[in-house]
Amino acid sequence: MPGFELYGNEERKELQDVLDNGVLMRYGFDGMRNGHWKAKELEKLIEQKFQVKHAQLTTSGTTALNVALSVLGIGYGDEVILPTFTFVASFEAILMAGAIPVFVDVDESLTLDPIAVEKAITPKTKAIMVVQMCGSMAEMDTLMAIAKKHNIKLVEDACQAIGGTYKGKVLGSIGHAGCFSFDYVKTITCGEGGAMVTNDTELYNLADNLTDHGHDHIGSDRGAETHPFIGYNYRISELHAAVGVAQIRKLDTILEIQRRNKKIIKDILSEIPELKFRKIYDLAGDNASFLSFFMPSIEQNNQLVTAFKTNGVGEFWNYYDNNWHYIRRWNHLKEAKFLYPISAEVKLALQKFSMQTFHQSDDIMGRNMSTLIKLSWTEEEVNIRAQKMAQAIKSVLN
Ligand SMILES: *Cc1c(COP(=O)(O)O)cnc(C)c1O
Repeated sequence: MPGFELYGNEERKELQDVLDNGVLMRYGFDGMRNGHWKAKELEKLIEQKFQVKHAQLTTSGTTALNVALSVLGIGYGDEVILPTFTFVASFEAILMAGAIPVFVDVDESLTLDPIAVEKAITPKTKAIMVVQMCGSMAEMDTLMAIAKKHNIKLVEDACQAIGGTYKGKVLGSIGHAGCFSFDYVKTITCGEGGAMVTNDTELYNLADNLTDHGHDHIGSDRGAETHPFIGYNYRISELHAAVGVAQIRKLDTILEIQRRNKKIIKDILSEIPELKFRKIYDLAGDNASFLSFFMPSIEQNNQLVTAFKTNGVGEFWNYYDNNWHYIRRWNHLKEAKFLYPISAEVKLALQKFSMQTFHQSDDIMGRNMSTLIKLSWTEEEVNIRAQKMAQAIKSVLN
């Protein structure tokens, strides 16, 4: 997954352009910057690469989600559906918007179960937040049809699936708004950064203003601009954007290496009949940053954690036991620990949710093992890793 493994001269060159002129901010200072507009350049590259009309950079994937919800007009009293398996940023962004997170089960794709989504829709539902977890996608056709039928919005969190596709469309570009993260461990990185993309020019214009204190960005005198509505500062710096410019040019190479490495491991593990792989709706579109599979039982999956450690297999996640990605251990949320007052509606929703058990998700996540695919492995290292993994799995199954 991590683009930082390919950090090198290309990133240094882009950074040097910014360091040479000293304009570290994305707006203004036209005369000083020697024609370098790294944030604008990265937005253009994202639009071209992801085949989407507009890209708006932000400070992070989390703030990109917050921007997406805001420009869609989602806030106080609105419900947003999201999966039980995601990164905490999903519910953080919903709560920051003042909206109510409504958790629903995942299926064996490790993404939203469309049946569970439809069951959770109420008159208050304003959006579905689809999270393309671990490099691969939800069943987008079905989810888009549900959104259309109920006249609600679909926000795609494609933070972990950069460069992945579904039926030829780039993940993140399918919903009403899509979000990417370029934090340090993502498929491509800016150090910190994110982007919201959309094909809706109206939404984009709102995002462009919102991310810069509501500046209207009309004319060339920043001091003379007006503020049509209340915004905030979500601006990425030129330094971060410069790294992103170099990284996005490497995306095809990154995907190629990931896919090659993943295939080697998957082919070897496919010889173990008891192992079931994660459901991937469009195999060709998998960004291949992870290999995820299911052990026959939760108990065996726990044994596999020990066996992997014994065999020297690193970079694996048993998300069932992890307090960043799976609902079971989100105690800070279940106990509603906030530094500030929250609305009665949100409080009530969180109380209800803290008493809920997600049997389907528990069964799936309890058996799930996810392993990272690295870029820096040599072909020999990938083969050795695959053999070690296979040995560990067999030792548990036998
Ligand atoms: C990383 C990530 C985010 C948040 O991105 P940041 O840039 O770290 O704020 C959101 N959602 C998912 C699924 C992520 O993996």
